[in-house]
Amino acid sequence: MSTAIEEKTVTCIVCPSGCVVRVVLKGGKIAGISGNMCRKGTDYAKTEVINPMRILTTTVRMEDNRLLPVKTERPLPKALIFDAMKELSHVRVKAPVKIGQVVYPNVADTGVNVVATRSWK
Ligand code: SF4
Repeated sequence: MSTAIEEKTVTCIVCPSGCVVRVVLKGGKIAGISGNMCRKGTDYAKTEVINPMRILTTTVRMEDNRLLPVKTERPLPKALIFDAMKELSHVRVKAPVKIGQVVYPNVADTGVNVVATRSWK
């Protein structure tokens, strides 16, 4: 097993303090976290380094060719964002649409739904 030591720096975005959190990895595993002012920063930095997550904000086509703004209900693994975009490029949504309505369930097999961020008649 590799015991290479690596260091990564993450800016915590959980609150406006924006702590710069230093993560030390030994052989790919977290060996130390510092710089965070609270526990939330530890959790954020761990996720960001091991499996970064992002909310996907994009558009999908309506059947009449308009572009409907949408976003995922929860963050997805960053590594699956491209797969999600590819799936969403095939979606055609039928009007009317209400804000918050699920327009595509379980995107990229993540269990996360894509919802409309505006209503359209
Ligand atoms: S570590 Fe805590 S205090 Fe610092 S930015 Fe993150 S949430 Fe805010």
